[in-house]
Amino acid sequence: MKAIFFDRDGVVNRDFGYVYQQEDFIFMDGIFELLDFFKKQNYLLILVTNQSGIGMGYYTEEDFLTLNEFMQNEIKKKLGFNFDRIYFCPHHPDDNCLCRKPKPGMIQKATKDYKINLAQSILIGDRIRDVQAAQYGGIKYKILLQGSEVEQTDIPISNLYKVQTLKQIPDLIVNEFYK
Ligand SMILES: [Zn+2]
Repeated sequence: MKAIFFDRDGVVNRDFGYVYQQEDFIFMDGIFELLDFFKKQNYLLILVTNQSGIGMGYYTEEDFLTLNEFMQNEIKKKLGFNFDRIYFCPHHPDDNCLCRKPKPGMIQKATKDYKINLAQSILIGDRIRDVQAAQYGGIKYKILLQGSEVEQTDIPISNLYKVQTLKQIPDLIVNEFYK
């Protein structure tokens, strides 16, 4: 099974920092078309999200789960399907857990849960730590949605592609990954 791993804030919805309320959850331009593209190509749709706001006490795990339900319902209303699975890291950055990206814990868990073929899989993130997690987790293709922030990577990342908007991704996949 091949999978597409999405980061949440900054990829699925606009990143205002520690988003946990419905009114702050604004879907990114092109996200529905992109989910539809991957679904039609038979990718498993997986979300992997750092939610340190829980560990830091900014909001509760229940708040996060309630917002998930809202997001999943909205996607389902539009497309008739939604994410197959959501993995999240609720820990504080100082907890040194194995799931907070750039660590690959969530990716490893998903790979085991669904017997994912990593050589055919892709991650889309907007932060260096997302693509680093993909590198550590063995996901072949990494797509970095570039924001204003320029971040440096301390490890080499293979098969890294940079895009400015989500709308560029289907062409990239058809022209580069399947050629
Ligand atoms: Zn964690």
